[in-house]
Amino acid sequence: MKKTFSVIISILLCLPISIIIPEKATAQSSIPDPADHFGFVPGSDYMLFNYEQMIGYLMKLDKASPMLKLVENGQSPMGKRMYIAFISSEKNINNLEKLGEINKELALNPDLPEKKQAEYIKDGKVFFLATLSMHSSEVAPSQAAPLIAHKLITSDDPLIKKYLDDVVYMMVPNHNPDGMNMVIENYNKYKGTQYEGASLPRVYHKYVGHDNNRDYVSLTQEDTKGVARIYNLDWFPQVMIDKHQMGSTGIRYYVPPTHDPIAENIDAELWAWTGVFGTNMLRDLTNAGLPGVGQKMLFDDYWPGSTETCIWKNVIGMLSEAASVRDASPVYIEPNELQAGGKGLSEYEISINFPLPWPGGWWRLGDIVKLEIESTFSIIKTSSLLKNEILKFRNDLCKREVMKGKSQPPYYYVLPSDQSDQSELIALVRLIMEHGINTFRLNEDYTLNGINLKEGDFIFPLAQPFRAFLKEVMEKQNYPVRHYTPGGEVIRPYDITSWSLPLHRGLKSHEIKIRDESFEKKLKLLTGLYNPLKEGYKLPAVFPVTSNGSFKAAFMAIQNGMDVSRLNQEIKADGKVYGKGSFVIHGSNNDLLNSIVKESLTEPGSFRESEKVSLTSVKLPRIALVETYFSDMDAGWTRYLFDFYKLPFTILHPDEFEKTDFPGNYDVVIFPSTSKALLMNGKSGTEASPSMSNYHPDYQKGMGKKGLEKLLLFISEGGKVISWGQSTDLFTGMLEITRGETKEEFILPFTNTADQARKEGLNIPGSLVRLQLKQDNPLTWGMPAETNIFYRGNSLFNTSIPRFDMDRRVIGAFPDKEILVSGYCEKEEKLSEKPAMIRIKKGKGELILYSFNPQFRASTQATYKLLFNALFSSSPE
Ligand SMILES: [Zn+2]
Repeated sequence: MKKTFSVIISILLCLPISIIIPEKATAQSSIPDPADHFGFVPGSDYMLFNYEQMIGYLMKLDKASPMLKLVENGQSPMGKRMYIAFISSEKNINNLEKLGEINKELALNPDLPEKKQAEYIKDGKVFFLATLSMHSSEVAPSQAAPLIAHKLITSDDPLIKKYLDDVVYMMVPNHNPDGMNMVIENYNKYKGTQYEGASLPRVYHKYVGHDNNRDYVSLTQEDTKGVARIYNLDWFPQVMIDKHQMGSTGIRYYVPPTHDPIAENIDAELWAWTGVFGTNMLRDLTNAGLPGVGQKMLFDDYWPGSTETCIWKNVIGMLSEAASVRDASPVYIEPNELQAGGKGLSEYEISINFPLPWPGGWWRLGDIVKLEIESTFSIIKTSSLLKNEILKFRNDLCKREVMKGKSQPPYYYVLPSDQSDQSELIALVRLIMEHGINTFRLNEDYTLNGINLKEGDFIFPLAQPFRAFLKEVMEKQNYPVRHYTPGGEVIRPYDITSWSLPLHRGLKSHEIKIRDESFEKKLKLLTGLYNPLKEGYKLPAVFPVTSNGSFKAAFMAIQNGMDVSRLNQEIKADGKVYGKGSFVIHGSNNDLLNSIVKESLTEPGSFRESEKVSLTSVKLPRIALVETYFSDMDAGWTRYLFDFYKLPFTILHPDEFEKTDFPGNYDVVIFPSTSKALLMNGKSGTEASPSMSNYHPDYQKGMGKKGLEKLLLFISEGGKVISWGQSTDLFTGMLEITRGETKEEFILPFTNTADQARKEGLNIPGSLVRLQLKQDNPLTWGMPAETNIFYRGNSLFNTSIPRFDMDRRVIGAFPDKEILVSGYCEKEEKLSEKPAMIRIKKGKGELILYSFNPQFRASTQATYKLLFNALFSSSPE
């Protein structure tokens, strides 16, 4: 039936029909054919199977063939089971556990004797991990998965049999099962209509959408945690590829190596290996009659947030990107529409890194599926041909990294156990261990390089196999500036430029540049889940305002009906100081308190009730969180953060503003960073430069003038708005409220001068910069006088003297100089002394505005308190 439908659609649209003929199953005829299972040949125009149908097929293969084993690997954020399909010779599949042990020895044992290494190289196999379609609108890699599996286990080709003797292919058939189903359901909804190919009107993930490929340092999401475990702790594959799609009008297929800049902590030979695999793919795909393959362009390998972050863990980690169709609908591309774009290819013409341009014409899902099949077979082939060298390289690199850690500074990173934010310390130690880093604690006080270290401090020696990763995430980032030509344009980064974990979390750390072997004898390896929290805490209890976890404790306690208040003065309890704004939880349910402690990762002090201590009772505000229909990742990250911190909220779409009773339902309206045009009109273009939306008209809606006026009235009557990044533009320029007959026009006392600063050369792609904070203010309770914020230059505030019923206060401002802490910034002087967090009063209400994202990708813990404090009652002058 479905096949017939595809044919009819093709005829209706006068398109040629593309069908891939899979190799005939001969050796094992009981193996089900993909076309029989799915009802169509995967890769056919207009036809997509969903996650359950795909896993159903792989389960059938698991049953029918001794060469495929489907193993569960964690869960998606919305609770779908995730899998790895191991595909190899029957002998290898029966021997996976033993082969896994060999992988681990090669990956982690720097003391492996030569003879033992040779034995493991002889007995071991190359484990090749492929992760497919994490970006759910990039459907083709997963649609190719059943064909790849079927072809591998049914092929009679002696060469393929030889490859599978040498190689264990580990296929994660889909990295984002929730998103896969959302996108496919959306495609089928509009298929055959005017709006075929319309974008999904939300993020294709529980929370973070496209940013799931930005989570590999922070590991906040269940799917990224599961995939990272494969190479951090469980299987230690030697080769890995993450399969994506890109725009439609450039090269057909991108293969490694990447373009500059590259991460300087990575071993030189590892880059060369990505080139070996990439060049073999270029050759094999070209030989297979597939033109349009390019390398050394578009993508760089400087930033460690993506799935290929395993490259910092000694895996030959790679990325591929195919030119897209409209989900499963073919596109026709005129030759003049083909273009070079991005780095490394200046013209769409024959070049050394693009030797056979694709000429244009029809481009179909089946074309991408062919590329996915051929490129996978190429990697398997290269892995087989160079098996012994790859396995030797893995152990040699382990030895080399450990040796570098013993012979080159820095030698150790230290996280002191005494930190103002205990919850972030515990979370960071756990995260570093989740990354497969050996973590130690100091047995006794020790003075090292003039620094007094304390018993219990956390020590991370650089002499360990994943040294490159450890160094990368513990040091400050110093962007490797390279130019296209001598003295020419700077090669700009693909993504952000700062990820230093201690700095992002507001934790103290030390980089130790001398080696001390007697110090190393005082270290004890930490194993299991680090948990310093005790049991038996009793109410009333005081939680320090300096800990992010204390806010979580307060949010949880209030929702559980406990009485929570904040200190209006500093107190001492159990010898510790609790600053203004610390939370006191009252009540009698000590079991509940202890479960809150466990969840909040923060140890409370015991509080003595006294009339002398001034407290203000707090309740949770009713929060509206504004999320647009347009793959609104910053809103998604905010939802994630609030769920993580157990803070309830209601999602409000901009087109609902007009009919919303704001004061009746909400105390606070939160605007994560998104463009003013999307918020106002539901379109990304403006009147001056219109752009056509790819969404169904039902979703091309914004709040409009009436919705904005409703929001402004809400503020004026006592409501609160919290807004950051681009959204703050909504509140610039002339605003309008009509009350009865009176039309009131006003401009709030701030402006955004980011455009001007950019024209004058400000360029900051996402870096950590210093921010000086007003002290003794409820908005900065628990914060030091200076902190680091993550800043991308989207907004740059100026304030002005207010008129009528308005006022403004600068809560945080950039210092006058030496502003950049970690990452990259051109013309940082444009930021000098500019306000970055302001409080604006209008009528009885207020706006708290940030020119930075205080919760950027749930990886800027140092500034979470600036957001959480803003949720509570209004601040005095
Ligand atoms: Zn992608």
